Amino acid sequence: MITTVIATPFPNQPPPYEGRNLYLNDVALQEAVTREGAAHAKTELERWGETLGSAESFALADAANRNRPQLRTHDARGERIDVVEFHPTWHTLMRLATAAGEHCAPWIDPSPGSQAARAAMYFLHAQVENGTQCPLTMTYACVPVLRQHAGANTALGGIWLPRVLARDYDPRPLPIASKRAALIGMGMTERQGGSDVRANLTHAEPQSDGTWRLRGHKWFFSAPQCDGHLVLAQATEGVSCFLLPRFLPDGTRNAVQINRLKDKLGNCSNASAEVEFHDAVAWSLGEPGRGIATILEMVQHTRLDCVIGSAGMMRGALAYALHHAAHRIAFGRTLSEQPAMMAVLADMALEVEGATALALRLARAFDATSNEYDRALARIMTPAAKYWICKRAPMVALEAMEVLGGNGYVEEAPLARIYREAPVNSIWEGSGNVICLDVMRAARREPATIDALFGELDQAHGGNRDLDAHAALLRELSTAADNQAGARRFAQAIAIAFTASLLIRHAPAFVADAFCASRLRADIAFSGAAFGTLPKDADTAALIRRASGA
Ligand SMILES: Cc1cc2nc3c(=O)[nH]c(=O)nc-3n(C[C@H](O)[C@H](O)[C@H](O)COP(=O)(O)OP(=O)(O)OC[C@H]3O[C@@H](n4cnc5c(N)ncnc54)[C@H](O)[C@@H]3O)c2cc1C
Repeated sequence: MITTVIATPFPNQPPPYEGRNLYLNDVALQEAVTREGAAHAKTELERWGETLGSAESFALADAANRNRPQLRTHDARGERIDVVEFHPTWHTLMRLATAAGEHCAPWIDPSPGSQAARAAMYFLHAQVENGTQCPLTMTYACVPVLRQHAGANTALGGIWLPRVLARDYDPRPLPIASKRAALIGMGMTERQGGSDVRANLTHAEPQSDGTWRLRGHKWFFSAPQCDGHLVLAQATEGVSCFLLPRFLPDGTRNAVQINRLKDKLGNCSNASAEVEFHDAVAWSLGEPGRGIATILEMVQHTRLDCVIGSAGMMRGALAYALHHAAHRIAFGRTLSEQPAMMAVLADMALEVEGATALALRLARAFDATSNEYDRALARIMTPAAKYWICKRAPMVALEAMEVLGGNGYVEEAPLARIYREAPVNSIWEGSGNVICLDVMRAARREPATIDALFGELDQAHGGNRDLDAHAALLRELSTAADNQAGARRFAQAIAIAFTASLLIRHAPAFVADAFCASRLRADIAFSGAAFGTLPKDADTAALIRRASGA
């Protein structure tokens, strides 16, 4: 018998990417963390970056996505059970993230910088696995609503809040009182419409015992295994918000029927369901008829996570591409030494550094200790950043995939998965147009938001003439903020200007100058069309070195 032993790795295939510290390799993230007041979390972030960057974490993510959750509607006796079964790797990832406090840390310790610290954690997680981020985000985002409308000293809040805030993971299908920790989801979208939730058909009927009964459906109901969902339904007063438990206090399953799980493009580790409510029991949150205003606080936080998550996905894709290009040789030198490839990598690095700076600055504006100015800034920049960064993520994923050539298109490298995942943040929690119309609404109805935006841009005034010229044009645009057809133009202009102002103030000149020259200057080839079209004076080598952590 002849056996062939290959003693050395095959030449010209890069070494494994895994086995690196995702935090310590990211200079722009470390700088943003310090700048936004989260330096106290440095040790924790280093540990988290080490854990997530390990080969084990990447293997967990791969397995969780290859083994999609399965719905079991009935047991062997034909009884309805409506259970979603996850691969064990899903539970391991959830256990790690909840222990790290991704869903709760800034609510437990709301000191300045706590939101930025948690944003950095979430950003790192986004580089490895995204499906698990869905229930973590929704649980994180429900806390302000629960606190405001079911405070810890009420019967409802007293049971739910401590479990939502526990740094623990308890997936057992039990009533909330029997659990150590709880996860929360949200249900707004119905078959006839998701953006226009005023058209919701699900009906809510008050009961003499203070509870409500919900009858209707939800067309997208992610993480149906959560212990509770915040849902919208029509009461006689109008659209109202409810907390819908999975199990009732007496231990029986609530009348929430899971019809099927969506067969999704990406986000495969996570379950997104179609459900029906058959007189399901729920508790009212906030004033009946004010449901949209009540759930909006949750939505604002989930939108923040779309920003951070997409920025993280972009960083993950870029880092992988940089690694490959640094090792792969073509035509006698590494890809990262080829000028045409350097232009591509440097351009992507600019996009990612800008997204990182914007996401972390935005997170700081969510601190419990933030002032009116930051709250106004968050009001306008959350939808604007959600629009722009989520739109850029699929572009970066696509380009990073191409850096790997054919290997990028194959499932073993995570870039194919990142590419399939990337569009979702742009669709849910307010699709592109809807989110841009929200930016315009903020500008029109809340002048303080525009004042805060220009307050930020003014701090960079004189630092770059491209931004100064852009800011002047932006002032004109902002006075015409009722032109719906121009909504995307407006949101994009705001997001890029704000990013530029952050880079001018805080990043090295070669980063800020290249960003402004390529993103703000009217030129023959605006970089937005495709990556790799930076002006010829951009210092591509320096940009690549910085993004590579060198
Ligand atoms: C994987 C996944 C998971 C999801 N999970 C959940 C969940 O857990 N809970 C939940 O509630 N929802 C969830 N959703 C639903 C998601 O939030 C909605 O799909 C989204 O809000 C859009 O609603 P829609 O699908 O009804 O589209 P529509 O509202 O019909 O919108 C379709 C398109 O029209 C645009 N549009 C709408 N109004 C206007 C206007 N006035 N002017 C111009 N353009 C407009 C939108 O921007 C969009 O591009 C999930 C979606 C996905 C893909």
